[in-house]
Amino acid sequence: MTTTRYRWTVLGAGPAGIATVGRLIDSGVPAGEIAWVDPEFAVGDFGTKWSVVSSNTRTSSFLRFLESTVAFDFVQAPNFDIRGIDPHETCRLGAVAEPLRWITGRLTARVAAHKTRATLLELSGRCWTVHTEQSVLTSDNVVLAIGSDPRALTHPGLHEIPLDVVVDPQKLATENLEGATVAVFGSSHSTMIALPNLVAQPVAKIVNFYQHPLRYAVEFEDWTLFDDTGLKGRAAQWARENLDGRLPDRLRRRHVDDPRFDELLGQCDRVVYTVGFEPRRVHAPQWGPLRHNPANGIIAPGLFGIGIAFPGQRVDPTGYAEHRVGLEKFMQQLDQCLPIWLRYGV
Ligand SMILES: Cc1cc2nc3c(=O)[nH]c(=O)nc-3n(C[C@H](O)[C@H](O)[C@H](O)COP(=O)(O)OP(=O)(O)OC[C@H]3O[C@@H](n4cnc5c(N)ncnc54)[C@H](O)[C@@H]3O)c2cc1C
Repeated sequence: MTTTRYRWTVLGAGPAGIATVGRLIDSGVPAGEIAWVDPEFAVGDFGTKWSVVSSNTRTSSFLRFLESTVAFDFVQAPNFDIRGIDPHETCRLGAVAEPLRWITGRLTARVAAHKTRATLLELSGRCWTVHTEQSVLTSDNVVLAIGSDPRALTHPGLHEIPLDVVVDPQKLATENLEGATVAVFGSSHSTMIALPNLVAQPVAKIVNFYQHPLRYAVEFEDWTLFDDTGLKGRAAQWARENLDGRLPDRLRRRHVDDPRFDELLGQCDRVVYTVGFEPRRVHAPQWGPLRHNPANGIIAPGLFGIGIAFPGQRVDPTGYAEHRVGLEKFMQQLDQCLPIWLRYGV
C-alpha cells in the first residue's frame, strides 16, 4: 500500500465530480494536487444507467454546463451530436454523456486519477485519510460526489425489475414479461418513463400505486414552478395524455391508501420502484451518517458534498423549497459553495 498526500480529493466521477474537478482547477488549485477517485470513470450513473432516458432539462442547459468551465476545454471538443440538437428541446441523456466522457479523459490526464472505490474516511492530525480498495490517500480536503441509489420499498414475494432496466426498452425486452402483472410505485419523472415502456411490453396488467397527485413544472419568465419535482418534457407530455387523459387499456392507477391495495398488490408478480433516491455512503465511523448543509455543502471540517447525494436547496418566489438536482444546478451550487470550501479547510 502506498500513501500520497493531496490538497483536494474528489470521490466520484459522475457529472458532479467532473464539475468539481473542473472548478477546482479553474479556481487555481494545481491539477497535480488533486486526487480523483472512481471505480470506472464512465460519467457515473448518468453515463452508465440513464443514457437512453429522455432528459427533463433543455439541451441549452447542458451546453451551458459543458461550456462553463475553462478546464473542460470544451472549445477543443470534437463535433458531438449535442451541438446539432435544438437547444430549446430536451435530448437523450446519452448525448450529454458523450462529451462528458471526453471531458473526463482530459481531466484524468491532468489530475491524479485513482480507478478504485473509497471505503473509509478518517480525520486526524488536521488531515483526511481516504482508504480505497487499492491504496491509502491523505488529503487536506475531500469532496463527496458519490451519487445515489434508487430507493426500494419492501413488498415480499415480488420479483423486482431494477430502475435502470425499466427505463431502457432494450434491457426491459430481455425480462420476459409475457402475461406478467407489474406493480409500479411512484409518480415521478422515472415513473413516466417506466410506464410507457411497460405498456409497450406484452404484460397482462400494470398497476401504478401513487401517493400524490401528479405535479407539472410550469415555466415563468425567470423561474420555474416545481422546477425539481415537477414533470417536464416527454414525461410530462405522456402523463398529460395518458394518466390525466385516457388510461391505456392494461394500466390501472390506485392510491396507496385504496382499501383494495392488498388485494391488487396480491395480483402482481413483478414490482418497479420509482420512489426517489437514497444517497450513497462512505463509511466514516467518527461522524456517523454524513449529512450536509444544503446552503453551503459543508459536511465536516474539510469534508464537503455535491451532486444528487448532497443537493442544494432553493426557495421559489412562492415560498416553496425544493432540493436542486441536475447538471446546471450542481454547477450553480459549486459557484455558491466553492469559495467557502476553499477557506473552510481543517
Ligand atoms: C432517470 C433519471 C433522469 C434524469 N434526468 C436528468 C436530466 O434530464 N437533467 C439533469 O440535469 N439531471 C438528470 N438526472 C439527475 C442527475 O443529473 C443524475 O442523477 C446524475 O447521475 C447525478 O450525478 P452525480 O455525479 O451526483 O452522481 P452519479 O452520476 O451517480 O455519479 C456518482 C459516481 O460516484 C461513484 N462512487 C460512488 N461511491 C463511490 C466511492 N465510495 N468511491 C469512489 N467513487 C464512488 C459512482 O461509481 C459514480 O461513478 C436524472 C436522473 C435520473 C435517475
